[in-house]
Amino acid sequence: MRVFQKTSELASYINKLKREGKSVGFVPTMGYLHEGHLSLVRCAKRENDTVVVSIFVNPTQFGKGEDFDRYPRDLDRDLKLLQKEGVEIVFVPQVGDMYPEGFSTFVEETKLSRKWEGEFRPGHFKGVCTVVLKLFNIVKPDRAYFGEKDFQQLKVIQKMVKDLNLDVEIVGCPIVREEDGLAMSSRNVYLSKEEREQATAIYQSFQLAQKLVKEGLKNPRELEKRIVNFLKKFPLIKEIDYVAIVDEDTLEPVKEIKGKERILVAVRLPSARLIDNWKLEI
Ligand code: AMP
Repeated sequence: MRVFQKTSELASYINKLKREGKSVGFVPTMGYLHEGHLSLVRCAKRENDTVVVSIFVNPTQFGKGEDFDRYPRDLDRDLKLLQKEGVEIVFVPQVGDMYPEGFSTFVEETKLSRKWEGEFRPGHFKGVCTVVLKLFNIVKPDRAYFGEKDFQQLKVIQKMVKDLNLDVEIVGCPIVREEDGLAMSSRNVYLSKEEREQATAIYQSFQLAQKLVKEGLKNPRELEKRIVNFLKKFPLIKEIDYVAIVDEDTLEPVKEIKGKERILVAVRLPSARLIDNWKLEI
């Protein structure tokens, strides 16, 4: 496994692979890896000759007062996990190399990114799109792998790729959950024991919603209310930023549940803000 810090060294190694006709699969991450990340790596390995994983806690996608400084980091552990998966290339750029003095160009998707996370984390997707486009330009992947865990992010990236004619296939991968249903996330380490227990309410609310839909509930506003009321029973869920039943393509709230919808949820516990989503089946 080769670990690159310098963009120019990675770029020339990738150029060599490309000349040899090798396909490149790319998994961008912020590190502190878990089974969710590794599922993307495994998918990339199956579909490409070479896999590149990047580990970069991207400052431009964090707002003021968010957790950039305390975001969990453990590079040694991450590298061991990636080695075990048989990853060939790891890219670990420095903040100063990605954003040198005077950096002044940003990429912004202006429709899908406005609502939900975009509303509660202004500037977040601008930071995400900018770093992902930069990483695509450095890694030149044939395919790039993103988790449905961050469903809006996946959609925004797909839109950026389409709008800007980027020559990369975006592959969405299913959410990996803990045994009790909590979606895996690097941020779960912030949770106290009690918070961790109550965090499963999110998954339980999805199961409740799915049951109600199977029983015939078709009104999305009613379903949102039922989910909110369920979540409100958990005292450590201090704030519900949003619960929305949206169309999978437009991310706009739907008028009726027809079978192509996602529930998007964001909640705040004392130590962490958690997001999750669920594909409704009818
Ligand atoms: P992050 O390190 O949180 O920026 O995540 C890097 C990539 O892993 C993103 O594409 C995430 O959507 C994906 N990811 C994170 N958690 C999960 C999960 N539990 N299941 C599937 N993919 C995930």
